[in-house]
Amino acid sequence: MTDLIINNARLIGYHYPVNIYIKNGHIERIEVLEDQDIDNELDASISRYDAKGHFVCSGFFESHIHLDKACILDRCNVSEGTFTEAAEETDKAKEDFTEADVFNRASKVIEMAIKKGTVGLRTFVETDEKTKLEGFNAIKKARAKYAFAIDIEICAFAQSGLTTKPTTQQLLQQALEQGADLIGGCPYKDENPDQHIEMIFDIAEKFDVDVDFHLDFDLDPKNSSIPKLVEETIKRNYQGRVSIGHVTKLSAMDKMKRGEMAGLLKSANITLTVLPATDIYINGSDYEALIPRGTVNANQFAELGINTTISSNNILNAFTPYGDASLIRMANMYANLAQLSSDDEISDAFDMITVNPAKLLAINSLIEVGASATLVVLEAENAVEAIRSNAQALAGFKNGIQTFNNQAAEIYFN
Ligand SMILES: [Zn+2]
Repeated sequence: MTDLIINNARLIGYHYPVNIYIKNGHIERIEVLEDQDIDNELDASISRYDAKGHFVCSGFFESHIHLDKACILDRCNVSEGTFTEAAEETDKAKEDFTEADVFNRASKVIEMAIKKGTVGLRTFVETDEKTKLEGFNAIKKARAKYAFAIDIEICAFAQSGLTTKPTTQQLLQQALEQGADLIGGCPYKDENPDQHIEMIFDIAEKFDVDVDFHLDFDLDPKNSSIPKLVEETIKRNYQGRVSIGHVTKLSAMDKMKRGEMAGLLKSANITLTVLPATDIYINGSDYEALIPRGTVNANQFAELGINTTISSNNILNAFTPYGDASLIRMANMYANLAQLSSDDEISDAFDMITVNPAKLLAINSLIEVGASATLVVLEAENAVEAIRSNAQALAGFKNGIQTFNNQAAEIYFN
């Protein structure tokens, strides 16, 4: 028998509102309102959620976030807003990270994310001589605690160099042995960026895991690491298993050069992630006028068939002293920055926080009969309106069980 009916929901692909019938955590059937079964409708033993004509989607997926260094503004001196300041302040704060401390801060951000409709995320976890495996162990615990509402993928991450750091090399491998899902590198923070890329791939191949790089995070159009990354991806037959975040150099390149880079990314099937909140905070702080922001127009890459995502990156730390873990807000910010106008463009941006990152995380996010009933109700009629109006997530369900509820605001007319 049906366990739950989500009444009066609007879905992508349906012209009219529907009822979604859920059984054993899966979508049993979807019926347009006019065709619904009256007997079932009256059965008092079935739970119901009235979506009141609101848009229902499969929830949001954060492809690039740092839970381990979130919510540390109280420990950082933030006054210049530069990359150097952010890196130095975070490095200092890292000295005092403990497992319990990381767990508490990560839990806070995960709960923020759940309440904003996020149902899956990939978090980087710094794994080096300062943090050892404490951050990793904390995130593993958080992953287990919140599995009822959100799927968490852990990326063992070499944020502060690798080529001259044998301890980091060992710790990354230990993390992978102990349950990390993939490995992440940051060539621009290494003395030898090319060798850094090779070493990350060497470890990835050894453990047969995907790789995710922080890449090209400045406004110099020259010296991009993309050609080296693409070369290694193809050489190692890693097409479709590599993603890159920031890549603000792309925004500084002329159209022809950017097109050349897009061609390379496509040839290696590399996912491009834009991180608008951090990019606009860090980039261009040395300009006095016409400040460049560094966020590239990901829609132009999506049009070429490249998988593109939008993500939060940092929450309330020296790299991004803002944040509420809302991906709809991030997409709204990106759309505004990228000067998107048409509904089609906005619809593509919605894909960048839903189906595209879900693909990266290897999660099926289609709403169809037989699929998991992981669903989020937004205070809008459709995806485009949700982004344009920065819509509130009203409720969420994972495998047919409700995980959060936000009441729609009410006005008391008098
Ligand atoms: Zn990052």
